[in-house]
Amino acid sequence: MSHPYLEISKLKKNYGLKPVLRGVNLAVEPGQRVALLGANGAGKTTLLRILAGLAEPDGGRVHICGLDIMHEAQQARRAIGFVAHQPYLYDDLTVMENLLFFGRMYSVKRPRERAHIVLEQVGLLKRADDRASALSRGQAQRLAIARALLHTPRLLLLDEPDTGLDEEGIALLEALLREHAQDGGAVLFTTHQFEHAMQWSDYTGLLSGGRMAYFRETRALEAGSVRQAYQEALR
Ligand code: ATP
Repeated sequence: MSHPYLEISKLKKNYGLKPVLRGVNLAVEPGQRVALLGANGAGKTTLLRILAGLAEPDGGRVHICGLDIMHEAQQARRAIGFVAHQPYLYDDLTVMENLLFFGRMYSVKRPRERAHIVLEQVGLLKRADDRASALSRGQAQRLAIARALLHTPRLLLLDEPDTGLDEEGIALLEALLREHAQDGGAVLFTTHQFEHAMQWSDYTGLLSGGRMAYFRETRALEAGSVRQAYQEALR
């Protein structure tokens, strides 16, 4: 039986007494790209961190490629490539060493060759032997994207991946997400750029009030209607 690559059901998360996620439901099938919109503080990062195994939920279920993230955490994590809000690189290691280190953790086969490929994909091959500390913000973001692709995950989770990228970086990212989905992978990304949600996704969701307040096929959306829903969520 084939599973959705991501299945979230009644997911809840509180910080202290404050409920941040109040029962989020979402399914992402192979080949789909989903954009997640939401105001500052809506819980987008919290949601992605739970999916990536970096925060514990207080209720609900999450399955990644059919694997329960609580009970089959390690296997589930291997199916995910995560681009966090911050690049989280090892500053003293070179660009290549950062990837090789990660490659060892994930038992990537032929890690150097794979690293070469992903660095080329993000346009960073020329910097392979430079220390991560010498990278600009956008270059560090490119490396974080390369690292997320290294172990050929089925589900890509990206928290504001468009942050800090120049025009070329944005175009590379768009192409990577499209190719990942065309190859049968799935993508869930957050953004504050409406045009990126509209252009890069098959489905668009809006997180508001701790729930998926809005979820539609992107091509059926009028840009104005998402913007309006977003603005209503801010009130
Ligand atoms: P942004 O668009 O600003 O990135 P977001 O939608 O990603 O926002 P989150 O970072 O998930 O929002 O934060 C959701 C809420 O949870 C916020 O009110 C935030 O203050 C709170 N929060 C997040 N992390 C913690 C934490 N570690 N401890 C306490 N509260 C937290």
